[in-house]
Amino acid sequence: MLLGAVADDLTGATDLSLMLSREGMKTIQVIDVPQQGFDFGDADAVVVALKSRTVPVNEAVSMSLQSARALLAAGAEQLLFKYCSTFDSTDEGNIGPVAEALMELVGTDLTIACPAFPAAGRSIYQGHLFVGGKLLSESPMKDHPLTPMRDANLVRFLQRQTKGKVGLVDLVSVEAGAQSVRDAFAAARADGIRIVIVDAIRDADLRTIGEACYGMPLITGGSGIAMGLPANFRAAGKLELREPAQTLAAPAGRAVIIAGSCSVATRGQIEAAIAAGVPALQVGALEIADGKISAAEIVDWIVANSDGRPPLVYSSADPDVVGSVQAELGRERAGQLVEDMLAEVGKRLLGHGFTRFLIAGGETSGAVVSALGVNALEIGPEIDPGVPWTRSSGGARLALALKSGNFGSRDFFVKAWDLLCEDGVNG
Ligand code: ADP
Repeated sequence: MLLGAVADDLTGATDLSLMLSREGMKTIQVIDVPQQGFDFGDADAVVVALKSRTVPVNEAVSMSLQSARALLAAGAEQLLFKYCSTFDSTDEGNIGPVAEALMELVGTDLTIACPAFPAAGRSIYQGHLFVGGKLLSESPMKDHPLTPMRDANLVRFLQRQTKGKVGLVDLVSVEAGAQSVRDAFAAARADGIRIVIVDAIRDADLRTIGEACYGMPLITGGSGIAMGLPANFRAAGKLELREPAQTLAAPAGRAVIIAGSCSVATRGQIEAAIAAGVPALQVGALEIADGKISAAEIVDWIVANSDGRPPLVYSSADPDVVGSVQAELGRERAGQLVEDMLAEVGKRLLGHGFTRFLIAGGETSGAVVSALGVNALEIGPEIDPGVPWTRSSGGARLALALKSGNFGSRDFFVKAWDLLCEDGVNG
């Protein structure tokens, strides 16, 4: 293993895994802290997907440390702590405390923090994070329900979460090349700085930063920061040139789409799928709460409609519908009821020969994947930016596409299946 990564959420981990595999690393994704003796196979990179973004600081630190220890024990040469490109966290953490705990674990005195991801509109200039051309603090992230981001100055913001001093490597240093960035790291060290925010506004900047970070035991950032890392291992003769997969050999079996995301993109994908003739069943949170629909009935419907195009079960609804349901049931209970129901449906489908699952929604994916008993994923071809096909390794053999709500083109639910081919197993 060359690179070991710890990611603070599931779809973020998938996004990072895809980035690494596109850059030619054989990557597997492990769900939750790896058990002792976990077999990482011949992966070049391993990404551990935690659910640690908004849990209490001590829990986030503890699960990140356990995961990092497992990765180091399996031979990881470099660690990457991956968080959201909008730096989702509160004044207390968890980015700073987890980064500092990992620094202590690997025994390093300096790391970087670089959430920039220019392809998704996230760039950093003079330590300030911009989202789609707006300062982070003026972007929709200012109103995020769990992690409202009201300070775009990442040096100041991260400093509130850390004991060690936070500094900046600015764009001028980055654009002057990898040696200039290394010089800036040395200058920061001399000033007693422990974490540097690094400016980046283009992919080329991320590649320069990646090059400068060769040999750094710990790096922290968004998935963009991984862009430049594989080239280091390749230059050192440790990584063969590997073409990213174009298709995924999927176990034979039935296929289904499960959508619990209410995001604009997912709702558009549902409309487009229905217009294209995909059989669709909508399940409402109130129906579930009132016991008007059961997992068994939903499964019966799916099985009865699974001979042609993969059928779609969705709870997704417009904001006004979701708002009134939440007013009646409470936000958390409504979400939980739907997640539990979709997870139960997923689990039951295993007993009916379903091996191919397309799941829309970050939390929804987390709930269904855990009900399916999946603990590791191999990364396959990219369907759309940030969303690959994956295949479970160990346990039931399944093909899974886990789509963060707002990702994917309108025809995603229809076109995704074209990238699967039969592997002859299970059928
Ligand atoms: P996204 O990736 O778009 O944020 P998530 O799956 O992470 O999607 O979050 C969607 C949340 O909304 C889940 O907790 C889900 O259970 C909840 N939800 C889905 N449909 C409904 C509905 N009809 N009413 C209320 N909550 C819902």
